[in-house]
Amino acid sequence: MNPVIINLAYIVSSVLFILGIKMLGKAETARKGNAISAVGMAIAVIFTLFDKKILDAGDAVAWAFVGGGLLLGAAIGIIAAKRVKMTSMPEMVALLNGFGGLASLLVAWAEFHFGDIKGADASVFTKISMIAAVLIGGITFTGSVYAWGKLSGKISGRAKVFAGQKALNAIIAIFMLASAVAFTAFADSQAAYAMLVAAIVLSLVLGIAAVMPIGGGDMPVVISLLNSLSGLAACAAGFVILNNVLIVAGCLVGASGVILTVIMCKSMNRTLGNVLFSGFGATSGSASQKLDGEMKPMSTDDAYYVLEAAQNVVFIPGYGMAVAQAQHAVKELAEILENNGAEVSFAIHPVAGRMPGHMNVLLAEADVPYEQLKEMEEANRILENADVAIVIGANDVVNPAAAEDKSSPIYGMPIIEASKAKTVLALKRGKGTGFSGLENALFFRPNTRMVYGDAKATINDLVSKFKDK
Ligand code: NDP
Repeated sequence: MNPVIINLAYIVSSVLFILGIKMLGKAETARKGNAISAVGMAIAVIFTLFDKKILDAGDAVAWAFVGGGLLLGAAIGIIAAKRVKMTSMPEMVALLNGFGGLASLLVAWAEFHFGDIKGADASVFTKISMIAAVLIGGITFTGSVYAWGKLSGKISGRAKVFAGQKALNAIIAIFMLASAVAFTAFADSQAAYAMLVAAIVLSLVLGIAAVMPIGGGDMPVVISLLNSLSGLAACAAGFVILNNVLIVAGCLVGASGVILTVIMCKSMNRTLGNVLFSGFGATSGSASQKLDGEMKPMSTDDAYYVLEAAQNVVFIPGYGMAVAQAQHAVKELAEILENNGAEVSFAIHPVAGRMPGHMNVLLAEADVPYEQLKEMEEANRILENADVAIVIGANDVVNPAAAEDKSSPIYGMPIIEASKAKTVLALKRGKGTGFSGLENALFFRPNTRMVYGDAKATINDLVSKFKDK
């Protein structure tokens, strides 16, 4: 096919990718954005088959491989996407990243093994692209599979830390980079091939070694970073096989993954280095510090009266709402409060829960109107005039220590300022700490009342009290 037509098709699919990503930024347009990106990918795949003359030859074997692969891949994708639970999304993304990395590794390896550019024949640029695709792809593959194992509970989620671990990882990285340099420098095909295989093995080992010391709770950040790496690997593979749309798509994934990683780190007030190397979660945190005051329990009977009189109510959901799967009950209570004359909103912290957009996804599943979801800054303004803030299984994201206690490990993390509300109802099962393992001064404040119990049971109890009145 004429290369001009192929490149025009690539431009169309690149534009569709960019439009799709933009539309993913808003809940109302996200589905459409996903579909538009999928159309872009279909165009890219179809024109690549012509670009590389894969289907030109009328070769039945090639048709069978490509057709069979497409059908098999599509079937697995559709079934997996239909089956996956909303709460298991990070695991699914981890696997997708991992296989993206593996694909880039295989493309680069196959180009060296079967292609026309072996050893001395390949330019330095091609060899650098090849080795980059292999190294980044290898780390992404095993790192993602290990992250998937941690998130799905197949491997313990605890950070695995041992003496000399950082030094060992550094040694693996140095040997890996040395084989990469040797691969690029060697003119002899066989020697270069040996270095390529060594680099592949070392990158696969490094992927596991790098993710091992990171706790299960930090996996969403790691997955976002691996997502970015899978994009970079694809981009490098694009340079190897000189495919423009692969280069563009790889850059888009790489850049958006980095942006999401930075947003998540900022929202937790931690550096990426701290997430990757501090072993956060290896020990269970300092839950023992002393706070003034006492936690004052309140029955659901009394909580009902407080809510009954409230004119402005802000729900602050956190990880506990996900654990309790309380989102549908929460939506029902919110509707009841609105019918009772109250203004209702939901304060969404960017890292509430355990994955990016965790609360948005759960509340959208329960059909909470999107306009009621308020981002942190707006929510904090609304809280100044709120009668009641209902904290549903949130802890770290409402911990005032982040703003007030310079010695706290979460100092500087932006928080939802729940205590600005006249009354705070904190719904949790007991005195358990949050992800950071820290006590929370909010629960000791004079205007806070603890409503103990599973969040779903407590909310259902409140709903039935409204219904019985
Ligand atoms: P936290 O993990 O800080 O607290 C959750 C609280 O929910 C616990 O204190 C627990 O208390 C309570 N809880 C658990 N189960 C239930 C239940 N069934 N019913 C009622 N309450 C329950 O959650 P937050 O959302 O406030 O904070 C998220 C944390 O995760 C932050 O530290 C963030 O940095 C971190 N993180 C978030 C990521 C993301 O992408 N969103 C990624 C990585 C980390 P009790 O045991 O007493 O019930």
